[in-house]
Amino acid sequence: MIPDEIEPLARSLWAATAPPEPELETLDGEEETEAAIVGGGYTGLSAALHLAERGIACALLEARGPGWGASGRNGGQVIAGLKEDPDTVERILGPSAGKRAVALSARAPDLVFDLVGRYGIACDAVRSGWIQPAADPASARLQRARLEQWQRRGAPVEWLDRKATAQALGTELYASALLDHRGGTLNPLAYARGLARAALSKGARIFARSRAIAVERDGAGWRVRTRRGALRARFLLLCTNAYTDGLHREMARSLLPVVSVQVASAPLSANLRASILPEGRAASDTRRLLVYFRLDPQGRLVIGGRGAYSARGIRAAQARLRRLAKRMFPQLPDDLPFEFAWGGLVALTEDRLPFLVEPEPGLLLAGGYNGRGVAMATAMGKVLADKVAGVPDAELDFPLRKRLRPMPLYGLRKPLVSLAVAIEELQDRAGL
Ligand SMILES: Cc1cc2nc3c(=O)[nH]c(=O)nc-3n(C[C@H](O)[C@H](O)[C@H](O)COP(=O)(O)OP(=O)(O)OC[C@H]3O[C@@H](n4cnc5c(N)ncnc54)[C@H](O)[C@@H]3O)c2cc1C
Repeated sequence: MIPDEIEPLARSLWAATAPPEPELETLDGEEETEAAIVGGGYTGLSAALHLAERGIACALLEARGPGWGASGRNGGQVIAGLKEDPDTVERILGPSAGKRAVALSARAPDLVFDLVGRYGIACDAVRSGWIQPAADPASARLQRARLEQWQRRGAPVEWLDRKATAQALGTELYASALLDHRGGTLNPLAYARGLARAALSKGARIFARSRAIAVERDGAGWRVRTRRGALRARFLLLCTNAYTDGLHREMARSLLPVVSVQVASAPLSANLRASILPEGRAASDTRRLLVYFRLDPQGRLVIGGRGAYSARGIRAAQARLRRLAKRMFPQLPDDLPFEFAWGGLVALTEDRLPFLVEPEPGLLLAGGYNGRGVAMATAMGKVLADKVAGVPDAELDFPLRKRLRPMPLYGLRKPLVSLAVAIEELQDRAGL
């Protein structure tokens, strides 16, 4: 499923600039705990940290190392809200559950910056705001509605006209934008490793290079096996998201993993830095095949967008991003070197909303952030911890369902996604 080309984390900017992984054990033998967690991204790590903070024994199994999946590879854009607008979320989930989910997503960045501060996580976190430039007039109209919906809920969002947008971004490509002061940037892999360190400091156990290979019922609880050991627990939390392997077939079938790729330039000169995103904000536009960009603390331009399922397609997508960078920012020198290129898997869901599901008592599945997971996966980890701690289902900050929603036509996902990407590219070009 995962093309070789996007596998190595070593070539990512974040792997080159994040503090090293904490020293971690590999599971060897059989252990017992209250909550076993599979997957060491933000969802699983935040669940481990919040369980450990409450004094609940937990152990996490990660196939590689913390942040090896999307959490160590993403754009590091901390964004409030979900992929769908607040009114739509409330319509899909119903007024009461919808309100709770919207409120959770709205304050999710608070949680991220609070954890970074409380645990002294060295991840270059800056709460400088997030900009969503409108790629065409139709998106600008939708954005007006988005602005109104968030303002109605008291969120610190504002409208930028053409001049303010150009000034804020350093490109003339967009006619307007939405500025959300709740957002910001961080080094995503450093944040994942920092969450792991924080969880360890509170007594959670984290086993790296310990892939879960089988899950079975064990009396009233669960048993999860690795090649060299097993965990027995009352609760089992599956937090493997887009990287879900054969461990849980239905979870894999409820997610559509799509490839997103990024490139990062060499550090820009001080003059250029002052002209591109001068306030240090993050930006993701409204295209169907959205383009996202930011500077890192060394002034490298980091730009990302949709990739492909083949190694050749991924290389072509990365070349396209380098050309797009030059088109967006004509002030960049023609010979600007790009030092890093990498990619990862984003988990899409059928209703474009995350899920929290308990298909059997004590088995909890969470994921599906649709490209908005830095803040939301952290928040979902806390909800998982609340559930294990005994918070009644009706009081959880995100609605708990009993069933996953399968992705339609799962078997045809690769050709269908490739076709959809080609169509969306045409629509974006035509400004539809
Ligand atoms: C390129 C890219 C750019 C993105 N940009 C942004 C952004 O700027 N802002 C934003 O908000 N969101 C962004 N996202 C989305 C965000 O990164 C994710 O939503 C978030 O990281 C999901 O976290 P997670 O813990 O649920 O999953 P992951 O971080 O993917 O973690 C899942 C983990 O499970 C492990 N695993 C899988 N199977 C097993 C097994 N059998 N046993 C043990 N471990 C297993 C994997 O190794 C992996 O580490 C981006 C995603 C990508 C790929």
